Amino acid sequence: MASASQTKLLTDLLNIESVKVTKYQNIAGIGLILHLESLTEEAFCDRCGNQSPKIHQNHRYLVKDLPISGQPVYLEVNRRQFKCENCKKPFSEELEFVRKRRKYTTRLATEIIRQVLADDLKTVAENNDVSSEEIETMLADRAKELRKKKPLGLRKLGIDEIALVKGQGNYCAVLVDLEQGKVIDILSERSQEKIMEVMIYWGLEVLDKIEYVSIDLWKPYKSLVEKLMPNATVVADRFHVMKQINEELDQQRKTTKRAAQKEKSKKKKEKILSVLSKSKYALLKNECNLNEKQKEKLEQVKEVCPVLGKMQELKEKFREIFEQEQNGLSGLLKISDWLKEAVTYYRESKKTIVRWLGEIISYFDERITNGVVEGINNKLKLIKRSAYGFRNFDNFRIRVLLS
Ligand SMILES: [Zn+2]
Repeated sequence: MASASQTKLLTDLLNIESVKVTKYQNIAGIGLILHLESLTEEAFCDRCGNQSPKIHQNHRYLVKDLPISGQPVYLEVNRRQFKCENCKKPFSEELEFVRKRRKYTTRLATEIIRQVLADDLKTVAENNDVSSEEIETMLADRAKELRKKKPLGLRKLGIDEIALVKGQGNYCAVLVDLEQGKVIDILSERSQEKIMEVMIYWGLEVLDKIEYVSIDLWKPYKSLVEKLMPNATVVADRFHVMKQINEELDQQRKTTKRAAQKEKSKKKKEKILSVLSKSKYALLKNECNLNEKQKEKLEQVKEVCPVLGKMQELKEKFREIFEQEQNGLSGLLKISDWLKEAVTYYRESKKTIVRWLGEIISYFDERITNGVVEGINNKLKLIKRSAYGFRNFDNFRIRVLLS
């Protein structure tokens, strides 16, 4: 029989508020078994919410808990059944530290999930003496909880996408709290309906407080924001604008190369081709980040292919506008000038910029971008690589949200 001071010590060690330890056993080869009793005398009916003090029957069983000094620990819990005086039916009480129908405590699950984020599932299962299936259940439980969570206090939202499997056009949408640089959610596909579903769940308490939404240049996102977040200003993500300009510049580089192939003068043809060889990054990279060799390459391209030179210059000019302008009006004036100058060089980008002008100008108010998504994307790549033992998108998502 354990003394009162022993059980008091074990209760303190256990550190679970609503229970006390009444006795313990130490069984060789199994571990420490702590017998628990609830400190509360009543429970709330899960049907009607009525508080009931009338115990119908006791239900004792073992659950696994965190180890103590390397020893496995099991808790013998008593999940009592109460009789509701209102419904006249029995109900089983909620225990805050162990979910119904689970054979492990919530804090053990939390610890195991933490380990799974850093290691593969099989190893964690072995180290903790639980089955892979149990870990999958822990993850599924946590996924359900995460889905219920709402991003209260969200002011600046970023909607972006990342390729799940590169080159397969398999995109998933990422919702980011731009102020905190944190992923709010990651959705298995990039569709308006899917995102809408999540946001409708957030409800007006969240949606009404969103002030800015940064999006890539995709119309459905814009109409989504207009529909659901009437107080939000849509901002076109500057990196996506630059991406479009860069793509058009690269297209021109390829066109120039193809044209040179057909050049009749052999000398001229060889000159253009040699100058254009390995010129991609000299043209596309931010000029301030070019190394000496790339700078030299850029000078040669400018001399031999003046159209590409002009386009590179215009690209840099647009980037400077993003860097330097401090308000919407000066941004607008600079962009108007740019459009006049770029009209014959950047036909496609011009159309896009004109179509998104309002949203591009909005950037200058708060200077929000989805730049943080780039960093998140790199982290996701690491997760994808190490996510063996993760069978489906849900598990990948939990890993993203918890890491
Ligand atoms: Zn009831």
